Amino acid sequence: MDFEGRYRVRPGKLRLDDLDPADTAKLTKDDAAGLRERDLARLAELQERLYAESARSLLVVFQALDAAGKDGTIGHVLSGLHPQGVQVTAFRVPSELERAHDFLWRCQLALPRRGRIGIFNRSHYEEVLVVRVHPELLAGQRIDPARAGDERFWRERYEAISTWEHHLARNGTRVVKLFLNVSRGEQRRRFLDRVEEPDKLWKFSAADVRERRHWGAYRAAYEQALAATSTEEAPWYAIPADHKWLMRTAVASILVHHLEAMDPRYPEPGPGEREAMDEAVAELRAESA
Ligand code: AMP
Ligand code: MG
Repeated sequence: MDFEGRYRVRPGKLRLDDLDPADTAKLTKDDAAGLRERDLARLAELQERLYAESARSLLVVFQALDAAGKDGTIGHVLSGLHPQGVQVTAFRVPSELERAHDFLWRCQLALPRRGRIGIFNRSHYEEVLVVRVHPELLAGQRIDPARAGDERFWRERYEAISTWEHHLARNGTRVVKLFLNVSRGEQRRRFLDRVEEPDKLWKFSAADVRERRHWGAYRAAYEQALAATSTEEAPWYAIPADHKWLMRTAVASILVHHLEAMDPRYPEPGPGEREAMDEAVAELRAESA
């Protein structure tokens, strides 16, 4: 199954209404489990090579409306990886220090080191999503909220984001962006589940239900942001999120696709290192067992 091709957002216009959040890619749950198991094993192998190579990194951006399953998907996909090679950063409402800098600053600080996989649970895209839906947030950045009415202001933010991501790509960080596309009905069901199950209650937030009132505005902001910033260097994927099993399978597959394209290699010892190794091996062999 070519999840990469199926869910990739082509640059230009995007209409979320044309996408089916309950898509299953014609797979059964069992088919998907088989694919996922294979891909998670492959991910672990590729991660080890990326870490050993220590030259490049992978940045995976997760964005979604509430209850789409970001946290669960991140946990699932990372379950087979070595914790030392992964950095997860969850971006929440910016602190005063963060707001005292340009909007990419805190994301720059959180980028994965060479050899690592970086996961952004929310990201710089909040700056063209939640901030677009609630322009009063601009005041905290010393920007006049009235500028939110100006198309050019948002175009400039998309441009800044694309330019930054392009810079990262040229410098060895592959950027892959995943939008988990949950339907309004499924979001409602998941919110209500949270209230009904005692061990899920902690996830329930009245604020999330308030944000739901802005569903249309969020969808419009997502459509514009994704269409404007899905590039060759940093593609977006709109992944159906109503079936968690499909979502997790698609995410694992797309990450394998990108790591395979990076093709990380175990480093070869250089000439001097080879000599030192040979000496060390001779020393070990000479020891009595
Ligand atoms: P959660 O992911 O549920 O912990 O919620 C984090 C909250 O932080 C969400 O409501 C986001 O919309 C909000 N948030 C994240 N980044 C920003 C940002 N740059 N500006 C304003 N709010 C943000
Ligand atoms: Mg939340």
